[in-house]
Amino acid sequence: MPKDLQEVWDNCLSVIRDNVSPQSFKTWFEPIKPLKLVDNVLTIQVPSQFFYEWLEEHYITLLKKVIRKELGSEGRLEYSIIMENNFNSTRPYSIKIPTTDKKALANPSVNMPLDLGGSKSIKNPFIIPGLKKVNIDSNLKPNFTFENFVEGDCNRLARSAGYAVAKNPGGTSFNPLLIYSNVGLGKTHLVHAIGIEIKKNFPNKTVLYVPSEKFTSQFIDAVKNGSQNDFINFYQLVDVLIIDDVHFFAGKEKTQDVFFHIFNHLHQNGKQIILTSDKPPVELQGMEQRLLSRFKWGLSADLQVPELETRIAILEKKLYNDGIELPKDVIEYLAYSITTNIRELEGALISLIAQSSLNKKDITIDLAKKMIDKFVKNNAREVSIDYIQKVVCDYFDLPIELMKSKTRKREVVQARQIAMYFAKQYTKSSLATIGAHCGGKDHATVLHACKTVNNLMETDKRFKAYVEELEKKINI
Ligand code: ADP
Ligand code: MG
Repeated sequence: MPKDLQEVWDNCLSVIRDNVSPQSFKTWFEPIKPLKLVDNVLTIQVPSQFFYEWLEEHYITLLKKVIRKELGSEGRLEYSIIMENNFNSTRPYSIKIPTTDKKALANPSVNMPLDLGGSKSIKNPFIIPGLKKVNIDSNLKPNFTFENFVEGDCNRLARSAGYAVAKNPGGTSFNPLLIYSNVGLGKTHLVHAIGIEIKKNFPNKTVLYVPSEKFTSQFIDAVKNGSQNDFINFYQLVDVLIIDDVHFFAGKEKTQDVFFHIFNHLHQNGKQIILTSDKPPVELQGMEQRLLSRFKWGLSADLQVPELETRIAILEKKLYNDGIELPKDVIEYLAYSITTNIRELEGALISLIAQSSLNKKDITIDLAKKMIDKFVKNNAREVSIDYIQKVVCDYFDLPIELMKSKTRKREVVQARQIAMYFAKQYTKSSLATIGAHCGGKDHATVLHACKTVNNLMETDKRFKAYVEELEKKINI
């Protein structure tokens, strides 16, 4: 008996609802529309590429489970990415992505050579029992390219070092190349970009990306199965080894040990090693000294929190790639509000788009504010100096560079003083920091500015009205 599309999807939803938080359910599952059910293939419509990726990254296990439960082991899920017109999609498109073949689809041409060097029996730790194909790919996400990695002061060194490595893997002094930063600042993206670029420049090189947890669990399995040597041999075959989040090796002596041997072998043979971690090598705890000293052989480069302009550029890139247009003020508002984690910034954007598509509302600054209040924990959003400067400059119609410059033009001086006054009032920044943001002034100048603004407010009604109006704008 043919199953009913809506019924199947409703059943899936009811299981999903029990397994995710209400907020996640609302954000990620309510906007999905079931499209069709043919031959046990359920097609669902999602509003953007990123939305699809988010589902794949965070909910794929759950989705697989519910599909299997509803449709049996033959059941499959396909996504159709359709942007709705209500948020000005410029490039509506629809593609289908079968979940089961995602890897093959992502990188069809990369096969791991399994029997190099005559050792036919090396077991590939990536083989998942039950899968027909023994091939593995580089595990590189096709959209984590250099092109999509927005350049800024925050990442310039790491990015260009990565680029140099991609041109000449194993042949620069950046070996290993270690990228470190807090979470959500682009380490994983950047090392994928390097891998992708290497594959582009040198199609015959074997590039392998592996998260350190996966490396560890493969190793544990290998020990259990007595296939430790296969494991080591396998890793020693690659030309470029990318290990993500090596800080997870902390305290795992055996894993560090085996990695040490693989590292040495690869390094001695001129192979490239690329690592990421949440700290620079000197601060990594629980790591063997001999490993740390090797990490220091090459180059360690950090990714910092992106400055406002970069945050805006990242959002714009994302929107452009997804074919979506948003009002500029909404983009700026997001970038002002979420400052320390690009993943959260993107999450907020996606959530906003999903909400808008769900409620058939246009994306406005008001909707963005409501969303952000929910998104940014504690609602305690601190207004930043950047934001204050932007509001003040917009109000007086001055370019922000002028305010940040040393110019003493009268109209700039006054706007700058007002910005300093608000920064003192609304941020936790020190006088010196405020001064540094406003044309490299010292703390005494900032203090003087605050006094001047206070005095003028008492004596000049029109000036007071300006300041009060600005205050409202800053506080909305
Ligand atoms: P990390 O590995 O440091 O935790 P990720 O590489 O997972 O961070 O990055 C988090 C998200 O932010 C990803 O979706 C990534 O594409 C995005 N991102 C980070 N840096 C940039 C950048 N410079 N340009 C564009 N997107 C970025
Ligand atoms: Mg990462």
